[in-house]
Amino acid sequence: MSVEGAQSEPSNVNLYNQIIDSTRKRHRLVSVHWEMTYRCNEKCTHCYLDVLPPNAKVPGELATNECIRILDEMAELGVLNLTLSGGEIFARHDFFQIAEYARIKGFLLRLFTNGILIKPEMADRIAALHPYAVELSLYSTQAEVHDRITQVQRSWELTMRAFRLLHERGVRTVMKTPLMRENVREIFALEKLAKELGAQFKFDPTITAKDSGALDPLEHRLTFADLVWLFEQKMDTAAWIDREIKPEAHTCGIASNSMLIDPSGNVFPCVSVRSKAGNVRDQSLREIWEQSPVWARLGAITVNELPVCRTCELRNLCVRCHGTAQTEQGDLLAPSMVNCREALARRQVLIDRQALPFNYPIPSHLQALSSKEAGGDILTNKVQFGEHNTRIIQVNC
Ligand code: SF4
Ligand code: SF4
Repeated sequence: MSVEGAQSEPSNVNLYNQIIDSTRKRHRLVSVHWEMTYRCNEKCTHCYLDVLPPNAKVPGELATNECIRILDEMAELGVLNLTLSGGEIFARHDFFQIAEYARIKGFLLRLFTNGILIKPEMADRIAALHPYAVELSLYSTQAEVHDRITQVQRSWELTMRAFRLLHERGVRTVMKTPLMRENVREIFALEKLAKELGAQFKFDPTITAKDSGALDPLEHRLTFADLVWLFEQKMDTAAWIDREIKPEAHTCGIASNSMLIDPSGNVFPCVSVRSKAGNVRDQSLREIWEQSPVWARLGAITVNELPVCRTCELRNLCVRCHGTAQTEQGDLLAPSMVNCREALARRQVLIDRQALPFNYPIPSHLQALSSKEAGGDILTNKVQFGEHNTRIIQVNC
């Protein structure tokens, strides 16, 4: 999500946006996010996946020939953007075989990696793929803090090496930083470091529970005070004050022109909503895209369908995600407490800036949350674990 303001865009960006808009309306598949493996050589404390060791034998993982077939099917469907992510993409021994074929097929490639395996020779091969961007996760300007988060010694040094090697070869890099209690106050230092490395800087304050339902990552989530501090630094008042979410609006682009494929070939609408649309081993990608009822069902959700959010006074300040609602509440139409607290923090900052009246309403269903946030209390949430097991847990917000 972005907390930065809207900027005027050049006309070619406007044209691109118009094309993307039209693909949404026509249910044309444009972007695929492919989690190629859940094996990883880091064990990040905030990760939403339960990763496996890098050399683990994973019988269900798609084989090379299956991956090649899927790339053909993507090309046949007219896919433009392909993001290859993990786990760690380079944990796959056949990564370059797959990526080089994707290059031949002409996709606009984005690679997500922690970069620790990238040495000069590998950097040459990456450069030869001409990726649109390589996005590398860096959590701190301090090696010790970063290594504590990844739980791998020297990982900071190795990721920094990757930035330099790629930059030297003219590859566009992005420094991607999930903001946590451990690093939020470093945001300006991280921004400066990215600039020095010739990388774009992206940050995200939203840390969610694991897909499995485990809550460990939430210990690292920003406190409410951290969120307010962050928005004070980075929030564009005009962009939020002028924002209007209409009842007939879709809260995001889910199920309209993109999909996620997991390492076993399961297809989902996006990284956060694990409502299965099919599996590429049982059906072609086209059959899944054209015949699964998941797309129509999720793509039809507008603000009007959200029983609580539709009347929420903070909806214009909220970037709501069905996926976090589903993980937390077991119901993708419910309010997401992660998004609620971000909206509350924006309200707070806008009041402090006198852009909103001091008594701007807090919706009644959030009043308890608001007072608990102020006192740094514990919030009780209902969280779904896996598909069947729902229980009441306590989340430390
Ligand atoms: S549900 Fe969440 S992750 Fe999925 S497309 Fe919407 S905002 Fe993005
Ligand atoms: S603040 Fe919470 S209740 Fe309000 S629109 Fe956002 S998610 Fe829904």
